[in-house]
Amino acid sequence: MNFKLLGLILYAVSFVYELLMQFLDWRSKDNPVPENVRDVYDAERYATWLRYHGENCAVDLISTVVSFLIYLALLLLDVLPRVAPSENPYLAAIELLMFIMTLDALAGAVFSYISSMVIDTKYGFNKRTVKVFVVDQIKSYVISSGVTVALVCGFAAIYRALGDWTLVLFSAIVAVILAAVSALYPFLSKVFNKFTPLPDGELRDKLTALLTKNGYTVRAIQVMDGSRRDTRANAYFSGFGKTKTIVLYDTLLDTMTADEIVAVFAHELGHGLHKDTLKTMPLSALQVVFIVLAVWLTVRTGAIYPDFGFEGVNYGFAFFLASVIELPIIMPVFSLLSSGLTRRAEYRADAHAVSEGYGPELISALKKLSRDSLTNLSPSPIQVKLYYSHPTLSQRIAAIEGSK
Ligand SMILES: [Zn+2]
Repeated sequence: MNFKLLGLILYAVSFVYELLMQFLDWRSKDNPVPENVRDVYDAERYATWLRYHGENCAVDLISTVVSFLIYLALLLLDVLPRVAPSENPYLAAIELLMFIMTLDALAGAVFSYISSMVIDTKYGFNKRTVKVFVVDQIKSYVISSGVTVALVCGFAAIYRALGDWTLVLFSAIVAVILAAVSALYPFLSKVFNKFTPLPDGELRDKLTALLTKNGYTVRAIQVMDGSRRDTRANAYFSGFGKTKTIVLYDTLLDTMTADEIVAVFAHELGHGLHKDTLKTMPLSALQVVFIVLAVWLTVRTGAIYPDFGFEGVNYGFAFFLASVIELPIIMPVFSLLSSGLTRRAEYRADAHAVSEGYGPELISALKKLSRDSLTNLSPSPIQVKLYYSHPTLSQRIAAIEGSK
């Protein structure tokens, strides 16, 4: 069997799948808007949504096609063996990874510039200055390439020492790192944003009362300067154990009434009480095991490398094949499972806000959020099942009204 041919076929399959998903997304504009969310957009806002949706679909399509063509050219022309000529296995892996990640970052920056700095600016969402945008891109590039190089070299070192036991040991190490990142997220997110404690006042009193009533303690209630980048509002829970923090975007405080914010907060508290961050961890850990499994299989199948023009194993290339070609084939299964789980958690969190007596305020808050962020009110049901971490607005409102 020629592994290059097999790889190209698998890559083409996931490319076609991706196009199909994007087609479903684009076509969802023709789906009827459910009765209970018809008042979210007036005629003018709806027309704006249609344009916004169309432009985003176009950018997604172009970026998918461009990155497919770039990788296809790299593979067909055997470019990768030539950018990683070193004899030393670690150096060769680093050369290859840095080449790909730099290319990726450049292409990614172009499309992210178009979607955030051009399209989002046109629709009034974007608040990033060009400077903030550039600094963000550089920070992400440094962090992601540093982490990837460290992980791949770590994998190579363990594999060279332990052989097949790598699968167990490395999976465990990555799982521990992921748990640590999640616990430290409240601190790591300071790389990108500024956080300040929610000031004293009516809102803080109401939120604290809600926490006390539920016997729940958090490290802090913080306000994030989301408005530095974007006008769209949000709130989330981060960290666990002693690092638990509730984060409210400053944009949320600007656009919502106090009771609407308390309703959103009660929803977040529902996540906290149900330990939702913790519950998604086994699935993330399983996902890690699959990724390590894919890299491990690719590393130990020596026949792959000559087919792609390499003289021997390149650990960076194994990681590239696993992440760009092998995993996309099974990822839909994972996203089906994990998005199903998170959607259930969202219903539970909404139900908590209802049980606190904030059902109507939660509905008006969700409608406001959807209106302001030009949400798709009638997405393709297949896409919702496969990829939506949240139920649709219409589904959430129906559930909130039903659980009164
Ligand atoms: Zn939620």
